[in-house]
Amino acid sequence: MEQFYEAQDFLMNTTISQKIHGNLSGEIYDRAIIELQRLEDLLSFYRETSEVSLLNRRAGKPAVKISEELLFILQQAKKYAQLSENAFCVSLAPLVQLWRRSGAAQELPSPDDISHSLTLCENDNLELNEEDHTARLRTGGAMIDLGGIGKGFSADRCCDIYKDMGAVSAFINLGGNVKTIGTRPDGKPWVIGIQHPDKPRGACYGTILCSDRSAVTSGGYERYQEVNGTKYQHIIDGRTGCPADSGLKSVTVLSESSTQADALSTAAFVLGLQKGLELVCDADCIGAVFFTCAQEVYLTKGVTPYFRLLEKLNCYEVSQ
Ligand code: AMP
Ligand code: MG
Repeated sequence: MEQFYEAQDFLMNTTISQKIHGNLSGEIYDRAIIELQRLEDLLSFYRETSEVSLLNRRAGKPAVKISEELLFILQQAKKYAQLSENAFCVSLAPLVQLWRRSGAAQELPSPDDISHSLTLCENDNLELNEEDHTARLRTGGAMIDLGGIGKGFSADRCCDIYKDMGAVSAFINLGGNVKTIGTRPDGKPWVIGIQHPDKPRGACYGTILCSDRSAVTSGGYERYQEVNGTKYQHIIDGRTGCPADSGLKSVTVLSESSTQADALSTAAFVLGLQKGLELVCDADCIGAVFFTCAQEVYLTKGVTPYFRLLEKLNCYEVSQ
């Protein structure tokens, strides 16, 4: 029977919007939400019983058995850490926590605290054994936080479920992490607005056509700590241990895989325009849109046919 579902929920510390259409079998809406709850239980840094917390508590001790899903996410995370020379880094949690605490304490972390935390964040510190399905954080105090990749993985999982249930058209947005199936129910392509980094929520500087694909934006404007009147945004550079300061306001990546788009957008945001463009162009994604602190927009060739600029901004296509 032809059905159309549209819903909004609050999970994973963000608003989740879903639109699902097709000859659907079973309770499609519930299945995606139940799946997201299950993934949050598995992957959350803040849930004591999650696999991530278990792994973090066992840092410095023998390896722990982990699920196939966590193994896959950690493999992907390690791959993008390697490709970005640790600009993207899931074992960055000690630094993420350090900077979060500085907001509450109204005091910046000391250089000593930063360099101590940095030693815990090296990519090699996370060991994976694919045959045994185990993971280990080598040094006590090391911790992983999947905030930079987990929503992408969750969006991919939800779209797999929509397809299993017979959806021909679907859209899910997990707080700026969008993935779609097919076209909109009226046959028109899905058009995703890209948030203007300096304007109120909902004000977009451009749009991106996104059918059977994922569009993910990383930006410093989304979340930040304010210490003595200065804003320190939530994405940390794994090479310096300080909030990323690469001359970018946001990066949007278009890819068939939301896991990839999520990791790449965070990595490219940290790397800055030049190295970020190289990373995206070498990866097997469609492309990316960069918004710089100088209010300029840079597009990779692959994304140009899908992107539309809505504001009067200098916009350049980059051939790599
Ligand atoms: P995103 O919104 O996908 O760019 O992810 C940002 C979140 O990922 C932050 O709130 C942190 O929890 C975590 N994070 C911060 N810096 C990094 C980084 N360099 N690599 C991976 N995850 C990070
Ligand atoms: Mg990300």
